Amino acid sequence: MKSIIPDYLDEALARVASDASGQLADYIPELAAADPTRLAAVFATTDGRLYGAGDVDTEFTIQSISKPFAYAMALDDAGFEAVLAKVGVEPSGEAFNQISLERDTGRPLNPMINAGAITVHSLVGSMQLTAADRVARVIDGLSAFAGRPLGVDEAMCASEMENAHRNLAIAHMLRSHGVLTEDPTVVVDGYIRQCSVRVTTRDLAMMAATLANHGVNPVTGDQVVGERVVRQVLSVMATCGMYDTAGDWATQVGIPAKSGVAGGLIGALPGQVGIATFSPRLDAHGNSVRGISLFEQFSSDMGLHVMEVPATTRTVVRANRTRGSGAGAARVFELQGGIRFAGAERIVREVVDSAPSETRVVFDLTLVSSIDDVARRMLREVVYRLRLDGHHVEIADPDSVMGARVRA
Ligand code: GLU
Repeated sequence: MKSIIPDYLDEALARVASDASGQLADYIPELAAADPTRLAAVFATTDGRLYGAGDVDTEFTIQSISKPFAYAMALDDAGFEAVLAKVGVEPSGEAFNQISLERDTGRPLNPMINAGAITVHSLVGSMQLTAADRVARVIDGLSAFAGRPLGVDEAMCASEMENAHRNLAIAHMLRSHGVLTEDPTVVVDGYIRQCSVRVTTRDLAMMAATLANHGVNPVTGDQVVGERVVRQVLSVMATCGMYDTAGDWATQVGIPAKSGVAGGLIGALPGQVGIATFSPRLDAHGNSVRGISLFEQFSSDMGLHVMEVPATTRTVVRANRTRGSGAGAARVFELQGGIRFAGAERIVREVVDSAPSETRVVFDLTLVSSIDDVARRMLREVVYRLRLDGHHVEIADPDSVMGARVRA
């Protein structure tokens, strides 16, 4: 049988294909030369499967989509404290290149606006790195997210550098506040090289899937950045990723996302999928017109909104029954599915309310597919308290979802 997903993507592209509204970005002359008809969409699953339609192998520059990834690298390299001291996490509600900083501290409001992204670039790698080595670190990091070596579009880079007055103005302002400590021109040059990295829609989907897959590239298996870093990056994408339309996006599409002025757009749905689209014509906010339409379709057709309340999962307590009789009787709690806080609470309640009178209590975890940290600790506590009350507790855990300690 042929997979249904490529056909769905073909249909989704066909629905938006005729929309020629919007403009190519023209503040970088090289960008204005792009082919406006290009159109692509790719899904990358967290186990590395790619589904694409349209111009999935056309290369274009990553532009602002590099920002969340550089932010991830800076957090990983310099640590949260050092990065948060210099760049905030508040949505600005302003255009990406607005010349504004936090009033008291001079900090850029967030890492997705240019002021924040220029500062973040300066924080990647160790403080001792030369400007060239820092750029190399950024390109290596972006490549690790994509799972293949990426390169810089030199013509795009030169074209943007010649017209970088606004970014230079921002960098000089950052330098005057002591947020940047290096030569502003050198940092802007590095930031523009970062923005000029060439990618395809496939690459972007894989990069997004690496975020969706808690920082592990689904194909290479590399842990590119830590899990805590990924949570931070996705949160900032969710609140600040779409320039001054972040609120509209959060309510209508609801997928942590980032757009770039070359027409790329990524979305990362934690634990599920990385999505990328490419279509160069932009709306007044600098976001890809057809990219937004595609994401709106994907979100509503497939229920991908992160705030979508999941259908009530099957109860985690599949059965609560007595096995055997007399002194050998055991109370058996058969658990099932994925267990997180709410599921663990149901288990605690079931155990407390049914107050087993049998000495032997068995938790059968054979059908439990996963259990998160909090739920694991809650279940351990239940076992501990039952033992304190004189019960003999056994755990049937053939897949070791509880870890070694409790099984022993
Ligand atoms: N390099 C571009 C700039 O800093 C990126 C802008 C964008 O993609 O939003 O102006």
